[in-house]
Amino acid sequence: MILSSCDFCERKNVFIREHFDKWGDHILNQCFYGCDDPKNIPNEPEETLIIKSVEKVHSILCYSTEWRITLSVNGRSWWTRLQLLNGETESSVTKMIQKCRNTKEVERLNKHIKFD
Ligand SMILES: [Zn+2]
Repeated sequence: MILSSCDFCERKNVFIREHFDKWGDHILNQCFYGCDDPKNIPNEPEETLIIKSVEKVHSILCYSTEWRITLSVNGRSWWTRLQLLNGETESSVTKMIQKCRNTKEVERLNKHIKFD
């Protein structure tokens, strides 16, 4: 499931259902279980995240960039690779991670780009 903001009630960090038009373009997000349902809010513990490093590994064609993120999570070292859209910079990636409350949110920053 995807966490994002709802275009109907404007809540942030809720599970959403994506709506597409008939051409497959994304148009709107809506709370997955319907607005006002508490199940939309992820029940995940907060972790203390300290960013240790944000390194760009490489660019994948011209569509995306891959990053290696090293954090301290509740005092323990943790790392992941994130695939993000092209055009992200070290400071924009750092800002995205600073908004995350736990490592699950960090991993959900991944943008899976389909080549078809
Ligand atoms: Zn909503």
